[in-house]
Amino acid sequence: MSTTKTPITVAYGDGIGPEIMDATLRILEAAGAQIEPEIIEIGEKVYKSGTKTGIQPSDWESLRRTKVFLKAPITTPQGGGFKSLNVTARTTLGLFANVRPCQAYYPYVDTKHPALDLVIIRENEEDLYTGIEHRQTDQVFQCLKLISRPGCEKIIRYAFEYARAYNRKKVTCFTKDNIMKMTDGLFRKVFDEIAKEYPDIQSEHWIIDIGSALLADEPERFGVIVTLNLYGDIISDIAAQIAGSVGMGGSANVGDQCAMFEAIHGSAPDIAGRGIANPSGLINGAIMMLVHIGQGEVAAKVHNAWLRTIEEGIHTGDIYQEGVSKQRVGTKDFADAVIERLGQQPQHFKAVSYASAPRPIHITPGVPPAQKKELVGIDVFLDWKEGTANELGDTLSSLSDSSLRLKMITNRGVKVYPEGMPETFCTDHWRCRFVSDNGGLSTEATLKLLAQLHERGFDFIKTENLYTFDGQPGYSLGQGE
Ligand code: NAD
Repeated sequence: MSTTKTPITVAYGDGIGPEIMDATLRILEAAGAQIEPEIIEIGEKVYKSGTKTGIQPSDWESLRRTKVFLKAPITTPQGGGFKSLNVTARTTLGLFANVRPCQAYYPYVDTKHPALDLVIIRENEEDLYTGIEHRQTDQVFQCLKLISRPGCEKIIRYAFEYARAYNRKKVTCFTKDNIMKMTDGLFRKVFDEIAKEYPDIQSEHWIIDIGSALLADEPERFGVIVTLNLYGDIISDIAAQIAGSVGMGGSANVGDQCAMFEAIHGSAPDIAGRGIANPSGLINGAIMMLVHIGQGEVAAKVHNAWLRTIEEGIHTGDIYQEGVSKQRVGTKDFADAVIERLGQQPQHFKAVSYASAPRPIHITPGVPPAQKKELVGIDVFLDWKEGTANELGDTLSSLSDSSLRLKMITNRGVKVYPEGMPETFCTDHWRCRFVSDNGGLSTEATLKLLAQLHERGFDFIKTENLYTFDGQPGYSLGQGE
């Protein structure tokens, strides 16, 4: 192994952060990890000093140079326009893959699912987490869900490469493509395409609702799960919880150039400063970091000593069970117990080896050929409170000229004109679809329509162009259209 030390950026965070980081770094040092920590300050203090992102601009320099971040949990103050540092770090550093291994440590950690052993690979940069939200009318707020083909390709290819590298037999995809046919549909389509390139790995797809139910009930049926940002966020916590303790799981946020490693739990302010927190989540995050920087041997040494400690019943309070645990310890004594066992193999659990562990998995998404894009219509969203759907529809129909005609109006996605149902509840937010009957449409025609609407006193709050791509509609139909 090389003796050149790898610089890493370290943040002690808030709450129990300093206690568990101290324990973790002591273990890494005792195991012979060749790392050179650079300490930066993040979190509550930085937020409260007026930096809305929770990290000083100058500290990005350390992160961009070392490209490896070992981060303890932080407390995000409520309200006040503070931005989640995690989301900022993930998106700014291009950390597109959130990798969360989740394992049961039965009987030492109580769980209903002793055979649970899976990895959730969550897309980290897109979906409803891009933070593009708007209030458009008195009644209606909007959050934009953005899904890109390169984004899907990167995360899905990463999941298959990960499965291959870590000898996992199956990759499962969770989406809601029966409802979100375009966004989740793209994720599923790219999954099906890429799965064909990995015939050695089984692949399957579940709709997120039944998939989550199966995950909660029979988690042992899954190996690697790949999914979109929001679903991944939710199911990661479900999986960690049913495995036995949120205090145990580590997580990696990986990009092409940088990576961030942390515990999955938060800063646990309720037990901060008492020396009783379980450092295992951060230890497991640090093990993933060692593999990432090519120190797989040290990673295995720490991992095996940690497993040995757990199976010898040396437990922090969060996982302590009368009759199973042998000794209740605090954070510091737990770390000392792991250090004492460095070099030992677990007896009950299978010993871990990272001898053939992959160096960082690099993914370069392909560029799909450009398709013929043609403007065929426009959805105009109106803030309108003056009457019924039929009244609005009749007025707008009279505006239509030779190039654009009103095709339908929906309210929260449901068609209300023409031939709407009187039972449908309507808000002040109307989507009015104008289409061209003669194929291709000029931008000037849509601008002319907007000018007409403006002259008639309509408040248009947003528009969406309707395109076809190689003749295929690039927009969804209204419900009931
Ligand atoms: P939490 O994970 O901090 O705590 C939930 C419960 O689990 C608490 O009862 C806590 O005592 C316990 N717990 C968590 N980790 C533990 C450990 N290592 N050992 C023993 N017990 C542990 O979640 P929360 O209370 O919802 O959030 C607290 C703060 O953490 C919030 O400000 C939140 O924004 C932040 N947070 C940060 C991160 C992060 O930085 N990655 C992640 C989640 C939450």
